[in-house]
Amino acid sequence: MEDHIIRATAAGGGIRAFAALTTQMVQSAHVTHGTSGVASAALGRTLTAAAMMSRMMKNERDMLTIQIKGDGPLGGIVVVSDSISNVRGYVHNPQVYLPLTPTGKFDVGQAVGKNGYLNVIKDLGLKEPYVGYVDLVSGEIGEDVAYYFAASEQIPTVVCLGVLAGPDENIINAGGYIIQLMPGADEEIIEYLEDKVFLSDSITVMLSDGKDPTAILEELLGEKGLEINERLPCKYQCNCSTDRMERNLISLGSKEILNMADTQHGAELQCHFCNSKYRFTEEELRALANNSSSKSI
Ligand SMILES: [Zn+2]
Repeated sequence: MEDHIIRATAAGGGIRAFAALTTQMVQSAHVTHGTSGVASAALGRTLTAAAMMSRMMKNERDMLTIQIKGDGPLGGIVVVSDSISNVRGYVHNPQVYLPLTPTGKFDVGQAVGKNGYLNVIKDLGLKEPYVGYVDLVSGEIGEDVAYYFAASEQIPTVVCLGVLAGPDENIINAGGYIIQLMPGADEEIIEYLEDKVFLSDSITVMLSDGKDPTAILEELLGEKGLEINERLPCKYQCNCSTDRMERNLISLGSKEILNMADTQHGAELQCHFCNSKYRFTEEELRALANNSSSKSI
């Protein structure tokens, strides 16, 4: 089944919900970065959250970034999505190996670390981007994203995210859901939801049982007047280009670029998100330095 996101409402509009299947997206991230199981789980959960959160933005050119920085061995996670769930990301140390938790799960909380922060940056085309900042709750990502919504956007939110990898580290399945209470929603529905989520299987078990995002939302909200609104694509995709890398170089300033030309006689830049390499010759660097100094005047 292709990766996708389902957008839905329930309780007469009192609830909005998203559910995502992101197995291929997380597998692409795993192949790109050579992530260990626990690193795939941490990055994959964040990619899945970003894919759904990007669908909450209104305009085509809006961009969403999630940064997670804990004190665990993973060293940090960065994920970026455009408004149509083209998602990319990386972790600082993709080769982290930790024992599984007593329940046999990847110990994402330990890998990320419990002390640190989660940032959500939304570039909505305004002068300044919106930045939401919260301390980490558990480093398990799902709980941290839920806390971000409650504390920073004042929206009571349930977030479940999961990644299942096999012994060969390939991704077996990945996905998640975000369920939010809209203003004026019946308070009783919170308790109903909490019970329902508590009693339901984990997301990777539901996916292993063959449930797709629609079936998952039906299980959770079927008794509350679920209405499926849209089925939307999502995928792992980088948008780097020679142009973009030139702009990065120019932002260093002409002095730094000339220094590279003089000492290294060229430069090689690697994209953090897809590992593509961009090479610039000494002549190209000198031309960019000219460009940079003319821009700074
Ligand atoms: Zn790239």
